[in-house]
Amino acid sequence: MSKTAPSFYQTLAALGAVLQIFTLGMGQGARIEIDGSTARVSIDLDAAERVNVSFLSSYAGVDGISERVTELKVFDTEQREVNLKRLGLGEYLAERPYARLSYSVNLEPLSNAGRAHVSWIDGDVGVLVGRDLLPIGVREVVAALALPSGWELRGTVPDARAVKLGRAGEPVYIGRGWRVREDAGGKLTLMFSGEWRFTDEDAMERAREIFAEYERMFGAAPSGAFSIAFTRLPQQTEFGVWNAETRGRNVLVASSDMPFGTPSVQRMHEQLRHEIFHFWIPNGVNLSGNYDWFYEGFALYQSLKIGVKLKRIRFEDMLITLSQAMRMADAVGDGTSLIDATRNRWTTGQNAIYARGLAAAFYIDLSMMNESRGRRMTDDIVREIYAKYSESAERRDGNEAVLEILTARPELRPVVNGMVNGTSGFDAGGLLTKSGFVRSPGKLETTEKPNGRQREILRKLGYNGR
Ligand SMILES: [Zn+2]
Repeated sequence: MSKTAPSFYQTLAALGAVLQIFTLGMGQGARIEIDGSTARVSIDLDAAERVNVSFLSSYAGVDGISERVTELKVFDTEQREVNLKRLGLGEYLAERPYARLSYSVNLEPLSNAGRAHVSWIDGDVGVLVGRDLLPIGVREVVAALALPSGWELRGTVPDARAVKLGRAGEPVYIGRGWRVREDAGGKLTLMFSGEWRFTDEDAMERAREIFAEYERMFGAAPSGAFSIAFTRLPQQTEFGVWNAETRGRNVLVASSDMPFGTPSVQRMHEQLRHEIFHFWIPNGVNLSGNYDWFYEGFALYQSLKIGVKLKRIRFEDMLITLSQAMRMADAVGDGTSLIDATRNRWTTGQNAIYARGLAAAFYIDLSMMNESRGRRMTDDIVREIYAKYSESAERRDGNEAVLEILTARPELRPVVNGMVNGTSGFDAGGLLTKSGFVRSPGKLETTEKPNGRQREILRKLGYNGR
């Protein structure tokens, strides 16, 4: 599970409160000048009159973000410079209200962990993200971008004179080194920097296939065009390490390669299956709050099932992953509900939440299939959530909405009350046996001779045996 990609959609809960206090409004003007050779950007920004300035200092386990901001100056409405006092990491106080800020940000790559989550410029490619480039409280700016000669804007942003950069907004791809592939229908754009052991065309083909599969599963596709970018991690690391973030309709995958061609294609497929799921949930639904246990656990689970269905992984591979998740869930699961653990995602360790979320999704699937003789499954859950809460729906708390849908099915109450909402735990032994599984330490296998009912369930999961 440790190599499973974190996908960081939610900003830190603690920041939410700060943001509300300092919100300056939307659509302010900004000028951003990019120097590719030094990997620096100079930002000049209009602001509502106020005295505090603060920048994000850490995000998604990446520290040192606010230290990249230098040469900060603020000016009043008469364009006179206002004295600033540094209060702490990324925190400043002006002597009197200011109306304009100017500063410079060093975008040399911070770390492998930050590649998918914060802004960077590396050689002839870069990604700008509002979250770390804008002061906290500035929700969105419309920026005029000055790019080095030969550089272009890539992705879904059309015009360098009016680039929308938002704290929770989509990334802006810049540079001359991106290779761009577009799907014939214009629904999907893929971008690549660096060399990979799979071809650009191969990735495009897979992405299209996975997107179509999810469209079938969810019953509809979110509107608009989607982009997926692949970039290499900036520092040498072991094979197979990756992280990714899905923002709106954009996925950025930052990855090391695999040692050979076949695992490299498999890894790319796994990344696409996981991240494309997020176009629907959470990015395509109007649900709020920290319900990561659900959308990460279900992204992992549904992407495993789709991997088996599309013959990218074997049924046995899925069982290995599930057994690892179950073991980890058993080891860390006592005493905290999944909902509470998710609230402390960065401190309690998110691998544990992924593992427990995945195990919960598996138990939910088995419970539903047992109850309905294989006619209902987790596909129906995610489909119902998407149908009910897709973009135009009224905003609701994610945990509340998901719990409502899960607990409406009596067969799910033991799992939900045991491990999602409550702390008593869930003993999966009986459920696994009924479903045709045998669990031994470190292993999950199918019963040697499954009966008819067990076979129905196993088949739904991709089992081919008799
Ligand atoms: Zn994810």
